[in-house]
Amino acid sequence: MSYAEDSKRYRAKKSKHPIRRLIAFILLILLGVAGYLLYTADPILDRPLRSLAESRLGKVHPYIADNSGLRAFVCGSSSPIATWDRAKTCIGVIADGEILLFDVGAGAIRNIENWGLGAQHISRVFLTHFHSDHLGDLDEANVQGWIWGRREPLHVHGPVGVDRVVKGYNQALGLDYGYRNTYGTERFLPMRGALMLAHAAEPRPGDTVEVYRKGKLVVEAFLVDHSPVEPAFGYRIHYGDRTVLVSGDTRRSATLERLARNADILFHEAQSARLSRLMAEAAARKSDERISYVMSKAGDYHSAAEDFGEIAHNTKVRKLVMYHLAPPPDQWLMQRVFLRGMPGNVLLAEDGLVFTLIPGETGVDQDMIEPL
Ligand SMILES: [Zn+2]
Ligand SMILES: [Zn+2]
Repeated sequence: MSYAEDSKRYRAKKSKHPIRRLIAFILLILLGVAGYLLYTADPILDRPLRSLAESRLGKVHPYIADNSGLRAFVCGSSSPIATWDRAKTCIGVIADGEILLFDVGAGAIRNIENWGLGAQHISRVFLTHFHSDHLGDLDEANVQGWIWGRREPLHVHGPVGVDRVVKGYNQALGLDYGYRNTYGTERFLPMRGALMLAHAAEPRPGDTVEVYRKGKLVVEAFLVDHSPVEPAFGYRIHYGDRTVLVSGDTRRSATLERLARNADILFHEAQSARLSRLMAEAAARKSDERISYVMSKAGDYHSAAEDFGEIAHNTKVRKLVMYHLAPPPDQWLMQRVFLRGMPGNVLLAEDGLVFTLIPGETGVDQDMIEPL
């Protein structure tokens, strides 16, 4: 091909470009106009927005609708130490359409709402003791449940002192109750549903006391050893012949291990002695005496994760779930420290872990909560 031919071709090719550019420009303008019209034309936008709103309302999570068994789930697996993907302490059970919470640490209600379980289905909260990492979301449990449809008071159980905590919360939220009651009217937001009711229990050392019973469900409280926090409870939950225990905060407790014998699930608080020691040493190196002191002393009234092989052996529970994790293991290396050398039935809690227990059967079905 000669040079003349080549350059002629090149010029012909080049001359097409302005046309392409013009077409692209017009298309862009048209797209912009279409986008603007779509954005401003409310009747067009209303349709997808309406179906979006409808898709989120009036739905009931299958766990709430299904009455065939007991579900026990982790609504908060961390301790006082905050971490991204763990709320502070909370264990929930769902029985016959009701949610019972065993402690309600900060972030727990956000979890429950995000999973679509519905705060209005929370009927009772059982506090183990009154450290703030166990009750930071009590206000959210109460007010969110009321807004979304609970018409009865939220019942709050706990050791002696629970009346003081509940009275304080009711007082702090009193203005909110009034605003919402006025705005929503007595018909839709009845004041009776707003005020929390306290129920204190006093179990004898080494024994259980029944604190709630409804149908197949029985909840018992017992004393654990979280001294100087006194009294501090653990809870045992029966549903027909199935049994779940929640330790609350405690040192290794012989009472707890006896009461948990052959249970289906034991949710037991766990503090890694090794990780706590390393944190205390790191804080000392950074001249943070305060944190160094707190981390080195916390083991005095908590249970060492390193003991869980023994706890599993003593109790012979089907599943032993470490929760109230301190420090919260947000990396696989830390998770390995918690689980090193543990038998297969020892698990590390994570938010959303759920177990299903059917009365008359022996299986423990394990899953992660599927959000609605
Ligand atoms: Zn705690
Ligand atoms: Zn505590």
